[in-house]
Amino acid sequence: MHTTTAARGGIASRATRLVVAALLAVATVGLLGVTASDASGSRGRLDVKRERFGTMPDGTVVHRYTLTNARGMEVKLITYGGAIQSLRVPDRHGRRANVTLGFSDLEGYLNPANPYFGCITGRYANRIDEGRFTLDGVTYQLAVNNPPNHLHGGNVGFDKRVWDAEVVRTDASVGVRFRYTSPDGEENYPGTLRTTVTYTLNNRNALRMRYEATTNKATIVNLTNHAYWNLAGEGSGDINDHELRLNASRYTPVDATLIPTGQIAPVAGTPLDFTRSTRIGKRIRDSHPQLLIGRGYDHNWVLDRHGSGLELAARLKDPRSGRVLEVLTQEPGIQFYSGNFLDGTLVGTSGRTYRQGDGLALETQHYPDSPNHPNFPSTVLRPGGKYDTTTIYRFSTD
Ligand code: BGC
Repeated sequence: MHTTTAARGGIASRATRLVVAALLAVATVGLLGVTASDASGSRGRLDVKRERFGTMPDGTVVHRYTLTNARGMEVKLITYGGAIQSLRVPDRHGRRANVTLGFSDLEGYLNPANPYFGCITGRYANRIDEGRFTLDGVTYQLAVNNPPNHLHGGNVGFDKRVWDAEVVRTDASVGVRFRYTSPDGEENYPGTLRTTVTYTLNNRNALRMRYEATTNKATIVNLTNHAYWNLAGEGSGDINDHELRLNASRYTPVDATLIPTGQIAPVAGTPLDFTRSTRIGKRIRDSHPQLLIGRGYDHNWVLDRHGSGLELAARLKDPRSGRVLEVLTQEPGIQFYSGNFLDGTLVGTSGRTYRQGDGLALETQHYPDSPNHPNFPSTVLRPGGKYDTTTIYRFSTD
């Protein structure tokens, strides 16, 4: 009995020792695992990796770069259109979701019905009246690809080019520098435009985009990123419950073809007043003539700026997940487009279709059709000058 008890005790204590040893081993391996992957830069810190995303019909390989940081944010960029293909951020409970609309493969992006998901738009973001402008006495006729107007750079704009890419790293960020040289006369724009767009991610969940360009002839340029956001997660429904604040007390009203009339009008007293955080769905069905033209919001807000540096332009919040997106920019305007033309015919990244209002774009920019409005800030770039403008998408939770 004693013996048995002693034997049992002996077995028990040996078992305990084995369990403790096993637990210690697991913990040690775990720690070593973290240390090892930390040292290789793949976990717990800023990292970038490249993979093949697809092949263009002409054989050009399209790559995808994945940027990750120590706070669980992950951004996937593709060389086709220099686009943000996916962007994952945590909610207030740490649960991550992809908050930008897109496609799971290159075929989706090549579909002519791709509504500019995540891409760099250029040379001229948004519309130019009937595709015509005059610069230094010469009139240029651009493609009328959104009749009767020119939209987002024409038939083959910057969104449809495969950009060269290189990884950039600093102590505090990791990123990709995209380059594209647009030859003189491409899409009928004058001047060879050497363009660089650098995306960088830091550990404060800020994605920074720096747009730079130079030309060898006088030209016009207006670049932006066309990401559609849904802070509850792409494919999860519409953005009507998102709350939006725009740091803008004025906007540029449009005619029936979405071209600015030239007027700069106050938002006060209209459904376009987002000077205080407001649920987007609250007034989107108002019968205001500007909302009828746009089938919802599709306007340029004139930012209330203090200087030429980075200033807060917009704050978007999804109250359920607590995710917040703040947009900071050096640009004078922002296009808030409430995804009005999404019609349920495109299958998004997670396999669900996108319907009207399932995502919204906040495109920092110079005002649409500026070349035809001398009272708008100029979009002319001349040889010797430099186009250099930065926008930041900063994520947090509330
Ligand atoms: C424009 C919309 C257009 C959309 C294209 C936005 O920037 O303002 O009018 O339909 O881009 O997807």
